[in-house]
Amino acid sequence: MKSPLAIVPVPLLVSLLLAAGTPAGVCATSLPKPSFEKHFQATTLRMDLVRAGHAEEQSWAIEHVGVEGAWAGSRRLLIDTMDLGELLFEVRDAESGQLLFSRGFSSLFSEWLSTSEARGPNARAGHETLRFPLPRHPVRIEVKERGENGRFEAAASFSLDPSRYDLAPWPKLPIPLEVIDLLHNGAMESRVDLLVVADGYPDSQAEKFRRDLNRLLASLASEEPWASALDLFNLRAIRARSASAGGPAEPRKGLFEPEALTSFDTFGSPRYLCPKNFRVLEDLAGSVPHDVLIVLVNTARYGGGGVFRQFTVSTADSEFDAYLFLHEFGHGFAGLGDEYYTSAVAYETPTPSVEPWEPNLTLQTERSALKWGQLVQDSTPLPTPDDARFDGVVGAFEGGGYRAHGVFRPARRCKMKDKGAVGYCAVCTRAIRRMIAFTAGLDELPGQRRTREAP
Ligand SMILES: [Zn+2]
Repeated sequence: MKSPLAIVPVPLLVSLLLAAGTPAGVCATSLPKPSFEKHFQATTLRMDLVRAGHAEEQSWAIEHVGVEGAWAGSRRLLIDTMDLGELLFEVRDAESGQLLFSRGFSSLFSEWLSTSEARGPNARAGHETLRFPLPRHPVRIEVKERGENGRFEAAASFSLDPSRYDLAPWPKLPIPLEVIDLLHNGAMESRVDLLVVADGYPDSQAEKFRRDLNRLLASLASEEPWASALDLFNLRAIRARSASAGGPAEPRKGLFEPEALTSFDTFGSPRYLCPKNFRVLEDLAGSVPHDVLIVLVNTARYGGGGVFRQFTVSTADSEFDAYLFLHEFGHGFAGLGDEYYTSAVAYETPTPSVEPWEPNLTLQTERSALKWGQLVQDSTPLPTPDDARFDGVVGAFEGGGYRAHGVFRPARRCKMKDKGAVGYCAVCTRAIRRMIAFTAGLDELPGQRRTREAP
């Protein structure tokens, strides 16, 4: 999801959350923790998949498998128990079936499946990249997607023998790259490794890219909860050395720069700016070990996009750039949902009948069933009236996820809802902090409060 809020809000059009789900209730402590050293090497294995089909039916196939550079992720937290994302992939030992590694994620192609075009006669193909540490022994990779009840169901399964002759290093792009180390706070396995890829920065704009990178870093450093956890981040950036202009493409203006990595007008939404060639983007990104991919686009036009653990795209020069990046990064990094409901988007899914998986959206208004219930004071009414008395209070406010009714958000105002100088609400803050901790290989951040807390 996850285009930015339209500049001029239009009356409610729209759509609904994708078939989302009731949390599967996986308990972190119930799973045996696999040993990284026993099962994996500290090298990244990248598996590119093609998913083709339409709303009714899809099939999955391997496009390419190869070995990239060092493994940037945690060697401690191999199993993802957060139950976020539209999709989940699991790596299991082929012989014993033991779960060795898993990650939830979302996908731009999953969003396309919720558009009206996907219910038409034409099938399309989407690109999915899975990265995980190189297994020492044969494994099975199982891809799951949420079914109508919101729970993960089997979608595809692949076997992989790491001793196979064709598991070669991933081919490098024949493009000279400028690599910039902007922030280094420690070893990759214990840090959130951000990678920013430049789009639309030819050699003549190389200095501007550095200035824009510094502004992006400054926006993280000036906004909680990123600011107080910044020492858990590394940030590197890459720019293809080229004399030509690059992206973004602007289809409605007839602008199709051949080297563009991103394009406006995704799914017909002018402001939805997303990668347009995932293979090239992932090939570029694969040259630098990372946990999180950001594309910084050199344009003054308003737009952006963020899909959980797939990408965050932000523009460098629009009037709302700090808002834009921090809003989209909420989607791309932490899986936060849009809390607004007054702006047109392209998704056309029915009213959700199961609990959204996004940590900041719910169908529940019963305190005991509310997933952020421990952050709600006893004196706060549920549902919570949308008036100024409840500014800054955590409750259950009706309207969110592109729906004015039936979906509830945690706060009146939040960066996932409002433009301007609005911070993340307490629930989004908690979700971001949890994701920072998980990605950095920590059970929780220092000072993370587990019990009831003031909004
Ligand atoms: Zn929020």
